[in-house]
Amino acid sequence: RIVHVNGRYLPEDQATVSIFDRGFLMADGVYEVVSVLDGRLLDFEGHMKRLSRSLDELGMTHPMTDEEWLEAHRRLIAENDITDGLVYLQVTRGNPGDRDFAYPPKDTPPTVVMFTQSKPGLAENPQADSGLRICTLPDLRWARRDIKTVQLLYPSMAKMEAKARGCDDAWMVEDGLVTEGTSNNAYIVKDGTIVTRQLSSDILHGITRASVLRLAQEAQLAVEERSFTVEEARAADEAFVTSASAFVMPVVAIDEATVGTGAPGPVARRLREIYLDEMRRTAI
Ligand code: PMP
Repeated sequence: RIVHVNGRYLPEDQATVSIFDRGFLMADGVYEVVSVLDGRLLDFEGHMKRLSRSLDELGMTHPMTDEEWLEAHRRLIAENDITDGLVYLQVTRGNPGDRDFAYPPKDTPPTVVMFTQSKPGLAENPQADSGLRICTLPDLRWARRDIKTVQLLYPSMAKMEAKARGCDDAWMVEDGLVTEGTSNNAYIVKDGTIVTRQLSSDILHGITRASVLRLAQEAQLAVEERSFTVEEARAADEAFVTSASAFVMPVVAIDEATVGTGAPGPVARRLREIYLDEMRRTAI
């Protein structure tokens, strides 16, 4: 695999980053994941806007323009012959040459790392037909979940705990209310209305969420952006999650409760179809 490090394209075993990099020592960095279908990028502009915002929120230097990012994504897709899969990008605050809590001087160059992951048949994931089993766990992350940082230890722990309990993934809960999944936004459907938590610093502002909510409204589906309880979710007609790599993925169980009929619901199935159609139509 050919990867990108600070403007260079190298075989992955030749790509290196300093042990003093703040991404490594302090989780001082941000990332994005853009899906690829038929060699083209999905919702690219949305991901670039969020990257820009994450960098600004942390006072980090923007290492490349949107045009340069696009060129780098396209080059990696071409060099690695990616049909379906994803491009991962990460920007960290670079290498100050030592360990210090204080940020390094503004002119310290950020570290950029990018790589591809090939996922043949990404849009035909059989999990979309079986649905996910979700376990609920307390949300023990920091309070700025709107910034897409590489500080992913708690979501990893939650995912492992969910798997240990026989679930596919976890929904995290704070004050009795669902925040989001370990790597996706969470939704329920009740009496035809789609409910998902309102945007705030409590959750990541999902790019897929924004597209799915827009498409739902265009399809005349009712949408309510508000918090919901675990009890409400267990009693819902349907549930689902969204993310750039899973698209729209139905949820069929929450803890011991079966959601609806226990099979992927019609709203989730329809949104998945509408979303994939729109992504294929607008991919670049
Ligand atoms: N919430 C969290 C915590 C995530 O990690 C992700 C995926 N990165 C999402 C939501 C979904 O965001 P997006 O649709 O932009 O992939």
